[in-house]
This record gives sequence, structure tokens and C-alpha cells, in this order.
Amino acid sequence: MRITVVGTGYVGLVTGTCFAESGNTVTCVDHDISKVERLRAGEIPIYEPGLEELVERNTNSGRLSFSTDLAAAIDGTEVAFIAVGTPQCPDGSCDLSAVRAVAKEIGNAMTAPLVVVNKSTVPVGTSRLVQEIISSNTSYSVNVVSNPEFLKEGAAIDDFMKPDRVVIGTDSDTAAALMRELYSPYVRTGKPLLIMEPASAEMTKYAANAMLATKISFINDIARLCEIVGANVSKVRQGMGSDRRIGPHFLFPGVGYGGSCFPKDVRALSALAKEHGTTLDILDAVDAVNDRQKKFLAEKVVERFGEDLSGRVFAIWGLAFKPRTDDMREAPSIVIAEELVRRGATVHGHDPEAITNAREELGDLIEYFEHPYEAVSGASALLLVTEWNEYRRPEFDRLKDLLIEPVVFDGRNIWNAEMTVKHGLEYHGIGSGSSQDGD
Ligand code: NAD
Repeated sequence: MRITVVGTGYVGLVTGTCFAESGNTVTCVDHDISKVERLRAGEIPIYEPGLEELVERNTNSGRLSFSTDLAAAIDGTEVAFIAVGTPQCPDGSCDLSAVRAVAKEIGNAMTAPLVVVNKSTVPVGTSRLVQEIISSNTSYSVNVVSNPEFLKEGAAIDDFMKPDRVVIGTDSDTAAALMRELYSPYVRTGKPLLIMEPASAEMTKYAANAMLATKISFINDIARLCEIVGANVSKVRQGMGSDRRIGPHFLFPGVGYGGSCFPKDVRALSALAKEHGTTLDILDAVDAVNDRQKKFLAEKVVERFGEDLSGRVFAIWGLAFKPRTDDMREAPSIVIAEELVRRGATVHGHDPEAITNAREELGDLIEYFEHPYEAVSGASALLLVTEWNEYRRPEFDRLKDLLIEPVVFDGRNIWNAEMTVKHGLEYHGIGSGSSQDGD
């Protein structure tokens, strides 16, 4: 099949590359000229494990190419995917300006009937909107399908190639058949390909992300109470998660969720409810709990070192919003660093992949280090914020030697508190009080 994918971000680039990998001919289009030039030069603008090799293989085979010219890409294409960003408007609702702009461009560029698939996360009703915009700019017939994407950054290729499910929103049998054919290589193990009306497909994506965010805020709330009443959330989590009705996933307390999806999607769903005259009270609480949780680690620092942190240095390990990505969007590290600096501290940051994006986000607010132990040298404490694998088993003796005061704040409960204490460190985890078992 000949496919065009508009938007070469985390979703568009992975989608286009994975479709090419299964034999389709794909043109990935972006209006960001420098991004397209880098991709043409074989450079991957984002960090996503495994993506570089796949892009290289498929560009070399001629199945994958990059362009800024949407009209040229659309010509002769059977299906066009929209995978542009849908950020948050100031009122929390979803900003559809990029989707609208692409819809108009597609309409103007069409030279034959086309199936247009919306992969961006969008509010219910957007398929209809896109259909209207395209139709008002072309005389050719267009079939707009909703196909929300569920991949996770850091495991995006695996998620795309082996999805838990594929959701297709369409009222058209022809479009449904085309989508079945396109996705058949990825659902061979019997994973469901669910066909539903567009509104339900659009809602499924928001509801899924809202549920995951809810689990995180729920366990973070429980963790805070555990600390107050003297329980250990790690034990509580295991006790709860062993119940098959609950399950063990997404019940890890931490420093709050960030990223390009959960924060904005929770708010957009809540805004959609308000637009329709109702409220989603649980989600408003999920958002509020998350905002508070992002400040939790900095509050622990203040509790330990006092309100005035001037003259002190703090090291942060992990700046990206989660491991295995360079994405800094809404990363908890931003809130933590800003709060420490506001109180007069100097912050040293280390991240295996996100330093470039962190510099864009935080500028000179913090100092950046290439080596994790260099960041720790001379600090009053180390804050573990993102649980990259390389931080899981650090040299605790070395940390003790490098830190001015041997204090560690484990924002992800990845270290065993007893072990850190044995190495002479003072341990602060989430939901387990000080110097208790963090595992
Ligand atoms: P992104 O910001 O990484 O990439 C978006 C790309 O679209 C950018 O390269 C931008 O230059 C391009 N673009 C914007 N307007 C354009 C236009 N008019 N013409 C051509 N290109 C244009 O975004 P992303 O993280 O890939 O997310 C895309 C969508 O997928 C969003 O709706 C997001 O909510 C959803 N989503 C994201 C993830 C994720 O993990 N990042 C997962 C599932 C769904």
C-alpha cells in the first residue's frame, strides 16, 4: 500500500517506519524543514530505542522517505495518516489547530478519493470535523477514520508491532476493510482489532489514558497517607496488586506523571465534559493530585534541609519524564528543579538521553553533567527522579564519598533502603518514610 503520514514526531515517525517495515511504501511529511533534512540525512531527531536501525533499513530499501511537500506525497497515495501534535489550550481543552491545518492541506492536495486516518489524540467529534474540512476543500470523496495510537515512548516500536489492540473508528465497510488489511501483520497473534463508530474510538483513547493516570494518582495519594500513618506503600502495592481484579501494573508511587500525553489528555477529557455541560470529578482530582505530587520530592528536601536552600547544591538523576525517552514535556524534574532553585539552591542535572531537550526546557536554570557521579560531587543530596536502568544499582559507597551530606531522595522507590543505609546513606523514599525498605 502507498501511505502518507503527516507529522514525524514520536507517533508519526514510528507509525511510518513500522508500516514501511511490513512492506508498504511510506512518505513521512512534516512542515519542520530542519527535521525533514535531518531525517533525510539519516539522523533521528528523537531518542526512541530501535528506531534508528529501522529507519535506516527502510530508507535504504526505498520504502521510507521524508518530505515537506504534502501535496506531492498525497498524489497517488491510498491512505493518509494525520499524526500531528494536539497540545493543550490555555483552558485545558485540546488544541486542534494543527489537525485542522493538515485537513485543509489534504483537501486542497487531493487528486483522487482518499482514506484519511486520524492518529492524533483528539476529542470526540473530530473525525466529523476533519471530514467536513477536507470535503469543503475538494470535490473527491474522502473517508475519515479514527485510529488512536496507544504506543508508549521508550517501547514504541514493540507497542506498534505487537499492540494489545488496534482501535478503528469508522462507519464505512470499505474503510474498515482497508484498515484490517493494513494492520493484519500486527495482529496475527489474535490481538483484537476493534471496529467501532468514530466517536467511541476517539473516546477510547482518552478513557484509556485517563484510567492509567488515575491509577498513578491513586497510588501516589495512598503513598502520602502511608507515610503519615506509618505504613509502607511498597508492601501495600504488592498486597493490592496481587488481586486479579486490580492487577500490579501502574501502581508504582513516584514523583507524578508527566509526558506529552497523560497531563494534557486528562485535562482535555475534563474540558470536553465541561463543554457538554457535565463534569468528570475524578479526573479533576487526578490532575490536582498529580500537580501536588510533582512538588512532593522538593517538599521532602525542604523538610530535611529547611526552607532556605541557598548555598546548597542538589543533584538530580533523570530529567526526562520517564526512562528510555528524551521527552521533557511536563517532566516532574522541571517542577522539582524550579522549586529548589527558587529556594536558592544550585541544581546539577544528569540524564542519559534528555540533556539537549532539558537545556531547551530549563536553559541555564540548572547545570548539566555528562557523567552521573560528576553531578553528585559536592551536593547536599541526590534526588533520583527518573528510573533509568543505569541508576538502579549505583555505587553507593562512591555516592557517600561524593555527597557533602550522605542523603538520597529516591523519587521512584528503586533502591533498597536497608542497603543504602548499610552504605552509610540516609534514605528518603516515597510512601515509606525515611530509611525504610524502598524495594
Ligand atoms: P510531536 O510533537 O512529537 O510531533 C508532531 C509533529 O507534527 C512535529 O514534528 C510537527 O512538526 C508536526 N506538525 C505539526 N503541524 C504540522 C503540519 N501542519 N504539517 C506537517 N507537520 C506538522 O507529537 P507526538 O508526540 O508524535 O504526538 C502526536 C499525536 O499523537 C498527539 O495527538 C499525541 O497526543 C498522540 N499520541 C502521542 C503519543 C506519545 O507517546 N508521544 C502516544 C499516543 C498518542
